Amino acid sequence: MKKLKGSGFFRVLFKMNVLPIILLTLVITIFSAIQFAASMKIEAKNGLVNLSRTVVTLYDTVYEGDYHAIEKDGDMYLMKGDHTLNDNFAIIDSIREETGVDITVFYQDTRIITTIRTDGGVRVTGTKANDTVVNDVLKGGHAQFYSSTMVEGVRYFSYYAPLYGNDGTCIGMIFLGKPSTEVEQLVLSSLRPNIVFGLLTLLIACLVIIRYSSELVTAIRKMELFLVAITRGDLHEDIDQAVLERKDELGEMSRYLIKMQKSLQKLVEQDILTGLYNRRSGEKLLKRVCANYTKDGTSFCVAIGDVDHFKNVNDTYGHECGDVALTELSSRMKEHMRGHGFVARWGGEEMLLVYDGVHLDTAHAYMQELLETIRTKPVVYGDVKLNITMTFGLTEGNGDKIEHIVRDADEKLYRGKNSGRNQIVV
Ligand code: GH3
Ligand code: MG
Ligand code: MG
Repeated sequence: MKKLKGSGFFRVLFKMNVLPIILLTLVITIFSAIQFAASMKIEAKNGLVNLSRTVVTLYDTVYEGDYHAIEKDGDMYLMKGDHTLNDNFAIIDSIREETGVDITVFYQDTRIITTIRTDGGVRVTGTKANDTVVNDVLKGGHAQFYSSTMVEGVRYFSYYAPLYGNDGTCIGMIFLGKPSTEVEQLVLSSLRPNIVFGLLTLLIACLVIIRYSSELVTAIRKMELFLVAITRGDLHEDIDQAVLERKDELGEMSRYLIKMQKSLQKLVEQDILTGLYNRRSGEKLLKRVCANYTKDGTSFCVAIGDVDHFKNVNDTYGHECGDVALTELSSRMKEHMRGHGFVARWGGEEMLLVYDGVHLDTAHAYMQELLETIRTKPVVYGDVKLNITMTFGLTEGNGDKIEHIVRDADEKLYRGKNSGRNQIVV
């Protein structure tokens, strides 16, 4: 059988199965990653909001009284009750220590205490909040969450809440924030197992699909090649045993293909009446035997036999009786040739016998046995018992062409006919 070609088959396989699975997994993974990142951010935001409440409550508990501002020596001080908050870092530092969240307390738009430091480690007190924050929170009086605000060159994920003084006006703000890179890092590291799991699932799904689909496609391709061989007239092609043994529809189909092949073989190669090989396949088989002789010197003999006075049988007992006699003689010859070679119907009541791997003397001895059974065992047709004889011309194969060998056997048969019939001429 021809070799399986891979190119088209893998492209179809990829388009049909692998591509949809890759797309589906990618879409699901990307979608769930986005959802996951969004919910992580919401959680981070809620964390900041809750922490801001804690800080405010802590200040209320530790320093009783309202927020208000006083001026001393030209500087402004933010007070909580009797306590000055300026330069009072204890509370915000301890919360920063525990939570990793930076905290700033503003008087108006100015940082009076903060945990944020410059690269050199200096606290960024005295610096100002940006305009957006001032407008939204200080002037607008609303707490606000920002997914990105800049504080001294660092991007922050932040929450600003207004602080109210004893007169009910907005006196300052409290800021809680985490550097955005830290939040993104956290989201990414939480996402990593999901992404790895998604890709691993994708890989396994692809491998399973490729494994089973390629098995299916290979089986289909083998059946296709079998059909191609049959279409070309090669009726002795085999289908892979593994395909024939499949328990699925493909296995069933391949077994039907073999049955179809056998029916075609019968139609093309067998003679309908006698069940022997017809002349066409007889010639084909003889060619093969001749080729073996040329290749490795395997000896062979060829005989042509013809029923004696067969016309009389037809004329006396009818054509149907002739058919029965031919069929019976054929099955005797077939039985006789078993293990020695083959017999084919050469035409009418003429038969070709080929002894494969047998020398002339042995073939002659075999043929004498055959002729003896034909002579001594009458063919029965109803009440009629027909005594039939045959004449054979036998010759040994050589490097000659098939036509010459057959002609030689034919000439010997002719001689036999002319010298009394019922004999083998060697
Ligand atoms: P001989 O060969 O001994 O010279 O005499 P014969 O009477 O056999 O002569 P020949 O071989 O020329 O005649 C063959 C006859 O066989 C003629 C034909 O009607 C008959 N025959 C050929 N094929 C069939 C067949 O399939 N069925 C029947 N019933 N007869 C057939
Ligand atoms: Mg005859
Ligand atoms: Mg004849």
